[in-house]
Amino acid sequence: KSGFIGIIGRPNVGKSTLMNQLIGQKIAITSPIAQTTRNRLRGILTTEEAQLIFVDTPGIHKPHHQLGEVLVKNARIAIESVDVILFVVDGTAACGGGDRFIAELLSRSETPVILGINKIDEQPSDAQKLDDSYIQLAKEQQWQTVKFSAVTGVGLVELQELLIEHL
Ligand code: GDP
Ligand code: MG
Repeated sequence: KSGFIGIIGRPNVGKSTLMNQLIGQKIAITSPIAQTTRNRLRGILTTEEAQLIFVDTPGIHKPHHQLGEVLVKNARIAIESVDVILFVVDGTAACGGGDRFIAELLSRSETPVILGINKIDEQPSDAQKLDDSYIQLAKEQQWQTVKFSAVTGVGLVELQELLIEHL
């Protein structure tokens, strides 16, 4: 099995960190400053079962200026050119307008989507409320959900297995 996986999500949710952790190399540029990843970067993960080609995209947000519009346009192209979308969200905050904007974009595409709740290593003690806000969104769209930490690596084996199932 082999296929392309598009990593999509708001800026700063941990898309580049996740790709680096999955492929074990420092390719994507990670930063606490939004929009570091202006161009799409690729990383390949070869397992016994499959070859996963990850495409790290710039963060998507509602465009407020011209650069933002270009980013959204690129994201649309990325969505159509991959086999599976991994929609990454920040588990330390509740689902908000930015996530719903992306969900809307994704719902208009035929590409299958997996919703990945990241940063579970830093979730507060009342995390269930936060998780539920995303699980509700995933239910509406009939997307499968997976939880992980791109920093510690917790949950990434399960994530890989789910991605391979979708290829
Ligand atoms: P991107 O804009 O979505 O590519 O996000 P980055 O990968 O650049 O990460 C943005 C910030 O979130 C960085 O400071 C990362 O160290 C942090 N981050 C990413 N993943 C995790 C995680 O699993 N846990 C925690 N605590 N922080 C994370
Ligand atoms: Mg990035």
